[in-house]
Amino acid sequence: MNYATIKKNDIANGPGVRVSLFVSGCRHRCPGCFNREAWDFDYGAPFTTDVENEIIAAAKPSHITGLTLLGGEPFEPENQKPLLDFVRKFRKANPEKTVWCYTGFLFEDILAGKVGDADTSMALLREIDTLVDGRFVEKLKNLSLMFRGSSNQRILDVRLSCAAGVPVIMAGTWERKMGSGNIEDSI
Ligand code: SF4
Repeated sequence: MNYATIKKNDIANGPGVRVSLFVSGCRHRCPGCFNREAWDFDYGAPFTTDVENEIIAAAKPSHITGLTLLGGEPFEPENQKPLLDFVRKFRKANPEKTVWCYTGFLFEDILAGKVGDADTSMALLREIDTLVDGRFVEKLKNLSLMFRGSSNQRILDVRLSCAAGVPVIMAGTWERKMGSGNIEDSI
């Protein structure tokens, strides 16, 4: 797997300050995609053990809330296994941190084993706390939405969704209040 970028103080992709890993490779090709260069699986640099350790170390400080996986597409079949191994390692090293993941696939399709290898995708899903699912849809773009680009995208509580067998929206308010520049005051 290659990765495009790492952001070590990201406040745009999940609550608090997060370390975000943008992986390479995405076949969804959403019109208006913010990260077209990461569609190419060969874009960026190899995701080596040193890079894994760099991310784990960057997430150690107490002001870091957690890890966010995005891309590109973390749930592309080629990316699932390397991310599964990495997230397990990350969780062992940083058990108190949360893990968010963005995917253009739907939770229902991952749960039904339709996205790559069923066992691997389920194992990866179960390592994630919050899944932001669905493709970016330009005509549904809405700047008042928090942590997602278009209104079809859902912020899901993975543990509750897996237990229920249906998507369960994460508790919280996921739209910005008028006049608020502070993401924390509307969570
Ligand atoms: S899923 Fe994300 S990275 Fe892939 S094309 Fe859509 S917006 Fe771009």
